[in-house]
Amino acid sequence: MATVNIDGHDVAIGTARAFEGLRDAFGRAFPGVTLQVDDGLRDIEVQRRLYADYTSGRSPIRAAYPDENAPHIRGVAIDLVDSAADAGVKTAGTERSNWIREHAHEHGFTAAGFEFGEPWHVELDGDPWSEARPGALVIDGVLGYNTIKRWQEVVGTDPDGEIWSPSVLVAEVQRRLNDAGARDASGFSLDVDGVGIESNIGRTVGPFATIEALQAYVGIEPDGVLDADGSDTIRRVQGRLNAGQF
Ligand SMILES: [Zn+2]
Repeated sequence: MATVNIDGHDVAIGTARAFEGLRDAFGRAFPGVTLQVDDGLRDIEVQRRLYADYTSGRSPIRAAYPDENAPHIRGVAIDLVDSAADAGVKTAGTERSNWIREHAHEHGFTAAGFEFGEPWHVELDGDPWSEARPGALVIDGVLGYNTIKRWQEVVGTDPDGEIWSPSVLVAEVQRRLNDAGARDASGFSLDVDGVGIESNIGRTVGPFATIEALQAYVGIEPDGVLDADGSDTIRRVQGRLNAGQF
């Protein structure tokens, strides 16, 4: 299984590709500061040592039980640091830490460490060993040809880069949203009719029940609308697609 060495740490290839996107966006947000990897893939011996240090009280840093489910052993987890001298991504509540919390998902990561006092710890929401990431989508919130095509590739429908009416892609998305528990106000699942998501290039789309369900699925407050030329909902979809999943 392929790894990439970043800042002296081995990182699983899929996690590394996603990190590169996160690092690039961080660099644009904070010119002159570089996001770096402080720890990546661990072997079981290292995890055993960290776990022993944690459980014995020698170290305050939490460590997962040393087996194949530990996030740093599975390859999904990386610990972040940045190149500036002041408290940055290592400390919750700083501007750069807040940025990670807010934007990690756009690059396929969950800012998981905020749940347990380690704001520097993020986990990939996807296959850490997947090399299938030919050119990441730009996270611009625009549902255009490239994003539609990648969405089609990820869910396995014909990748023609277009949403027809009805659309095979939208029907597949509706099926998946229903499987994930999508319900309307009356408690009914979505109609799998292939209608209800359209490109938002130059126009606001909706409100549609399918968009509302999509928003709930990606963790956006549902209003059923895709804003013209830049939707937070589509940004989150793009982040997931960049991690090779929907
Ligand atoms: Zn970690």
